Amino acid sequence: MEILYMGTAAEERIPGMFCNCALCQKALKLGGKDIRTRAQALIDGKLLVDFGADTYDHFLKAGRTLWDIQNVLLTHSHPDHLTLEVFSSRNHWMSAETCKYPTLKVYTSAGVIEKIWRVVEARGLEKEQIEKFWEFIPMNYFEPIEIDGYTVTPFPANHARGEQAYIFLIEKDGKSLFYGNDTGTFGTEVEEWLAQNNKYIDLLSLDCTKGDIETPYYGHMSMSQGREIADRFLAQGVIDDKTKLYYTHFAHGCKMTHDELEKTAKEKYGFKITYDGFRLEV
Ligand SMILES: [Zn+2]
Ligand SMILES: [Zn+2]
Ligand SMILES: [Zn+2]
Repeated sequence: MEILYMGTAAEERIPGMFCNCALCQKALKLGGKDIRTRAQALIDGKLLVDFGADTYDHFLKAGRTLWDIQNVLLTHSHPDHLTLEVFSSRNHWMSAETCKYPTLKVYTSAGVIEKIWRVVEARGLEKEQIEKFWEFIPMNYFEPIEIDGYTVTPFPANHARGEQAYIFLIEKDGKSLFYGNDTGTFGTEVEEWLAQNNKYIDLLSLDCTKGDIETPYYGHMSMSQGREIADRFLAQGVIDDKTKLYYTHFAHGCKMTHDELEKTAKEKYGFKITYDGFRLEV
């Protein structure tokens, strides 16, 4: 399986859209890996995770459009992960007649689906028209679902309370990756389920919105909290020393450039750092 990290930032991006802090100024000058857009990932060029407002730019950067994308997993509805304005863009007049698949299937929680329909209604769009080109499929925590050859299991993220945010285990052909953002430290029931179901993780990708700074906010993790999750997974045997460990989803508040993040993550926590456009094979 190949994961392409199309975006690796939190909502404000780096440099932050309205920010002029020291890190954002540095990022502007450095460019390259220090420019981070909103979190999104593409598995094997076909299974898309999240649909934030940077989606179109991400695909342009990858040299393609979304005409042959059939399945999208949504972690939750925050604006860096879902643009609620997109649903009118896939119709007869704009594109859908040249799309490979008649509908784009969106897998997410019942809470997010409800929110989508509320926005559709508020925009005065016709539900029946949207349903011709989009299919919304609810998932349930700890219940694996088959999607085009992938087995996807959603777990409870400690994030966006009130709408059932997800973190995902994605498996195919004996390989697996755990996509763990956005979330704060989550419950031990996740690794217990993984151990009971004899799961082994090849790539553990975790939220690192706080960088190496501890803050009381519940819904994101610092480097040390991510390390604690890795140690818990290690104790349950669901990862080992061959598992690739990556931090992702950074906010400008972490106050570190890519090189600084990389050095701290490696020396203090044994993790590596993603960046926009980073491809990893497991
Ligand atoms: Zn986010
Ligand atoms: Zn900033
Ligand atoms: Zn979020």
